[in-house]
Amino acid sequence: NQTAAQQYVQSVYESVIARNPHESEFHQAVKEILDSLTPVFEKHPKYMKSGILERIVEPERVVSFRVPWVDDNGNVHVNRGFRAQFNSALGPYKGGIRFHPSVNASIIKFLGFEQIFKNSLTGQPIGGGKGGSDFDPKGKSDNEIMRFTQSFMTELYKYIGPDADIPAGDIGVGAREIGFMFGQYKRIRGGHEAGVLTGKGIVYGGSLTRTEATGYGCVYFVNEMLKFKGLSFQDSTVVISGSGNVSIYAIEKAQQLGAKVIACSDSNGYIHDPNGINLETVKLLKEVQRQRISEYVQHHPHATYVEGCQNIWSLPCDIALPCATQNEIDEQAAKVLVSNGVKAIGEGANMPSTLEAIEVFLGNGVLFGPAKAANAGGVAVSALEMAQNSMRLSWTFEEVDAKLHSIMKNIYQSSVLAAEEYGYSGNLVVGANIAGFIKVADAMMLQGVV
Ligand code: GLU
Repeated sequence: NQTAAQQYVQSVYESVIARNPHESEFHQAVKEILDSLTPVFEKHPKYMKSGILERIVEPERVVSFRVPWVDDNGNVHVNRGFRAQFNSALGPYKGGIRFHPSVNASIIKFLGFEQIFKNSLTGQPIGGGKGGSDFDPKGKSDNEIMRFTQSFMTELYKYIGPDADIPAGDIGVGAREIGFMFGQYKRIRGGHEAGVLTGKGIVYGGSLTRTEATGYGCVYFVNEMLKFKGLSFQDSTVVISGSGNVSIYAIEKAQQLGAKVIACSDSNGYIHDPNGINLETVKLLKEVQRQRISEYVQHHPHATYVEGCQNIWSLPCDIALPCATQNEIDEQAAKVLVSNGVKAIGEGANMPSTLEAIEVFLGNGVLFGPAKAANAGGVAVSALEMAQNSMRLSWTFEEVDAKLHSIMKNIYQSSVLAAEEYGYSGNLVVGANIAGFIKVADAMMLQGVV
């Protein structure tokens, strides 16, 4: 005997599965949100009558397109590009571009769907979207990256614009790729529309603190969770997966707050440095030389390199920040973390914990900062970059960092309050989902059935 709200949520979930077969990542992201929303429909049946849920799970549009390019040896390759424009109730579509061989419609839709609620939580006027390509940047020359990226933008430009859809970076897309995309967009459009992309270089309209924002923001968020329990980063042992942009700046901020970060990884394996990671070496290897993380042990022979990135979660730690990719912590890894005494998890990546892993953390009283709250700092500062572009001025590092800090505190507060209000005190998964959802749902109701 299910309630009307439970039946409603269940039927929408079933229709998502039927309409999007074989898209397991998208199903997972939808399930995580929908499971949290039943209490909202119980308390406010108005949302059930307006078809909000049926509309919110269906992207406003998804485009997919051919991306042909020529490698350095003159061979032609064809990749597939995507842009999911998921929801524009709060503002123009906003979300990153991912270049990774695993990219497909399911991955782009899960990311775009998550982005709606994340962007809502930031309090900034931005809708949700995501894009990408199954192109593999690994081992490609700068010229190959440029040709591919220009070809990608030659199609994508038709669908984006400073008031329509504003892409940014994600896995495989950093300052270099954003620069090439911006150059191509400007050339095709014949105008310098600074606000069409975020994560731009500082010299042509980028924002200070954007590079650091996701990693710093994740640590600011976890710090709020810790404070509530009388804990802190000071002298704690931290494991941070990944060694890309999110991971590097999470390491930096955790170290600034007095933590000892003992491990980080890439897709091949992880390094364990019991003395604490030397961040300068990681930055040199990853940001300058574009090397594998295994090279770290050449610089610091006392550290060890272990093949297989999954095993990083077997290292005992107080705080774990998964900052690599989706589903990197499964049920088994979560159980090992718990039995080793982990106190807090902050998701720097998007959907890094499986649904079963989240159950394990919540069931064992581990502080858990879900991705759409904990990693919202990146897109929040992207919105601040757009604001600066519109005003044609730029704020200092300190100004943007202070705004980021207060946005992360607000996200924590609104997630805590929403969880309390709906009877899930302390559950930030439910809190963040509800707080993110309500704003989008209200905006959709005010705008009629569109
Ligand atoms: N890719 C980042 C995310 O997952 C940032 C998106 C943006 O800045 O638009 O939120």
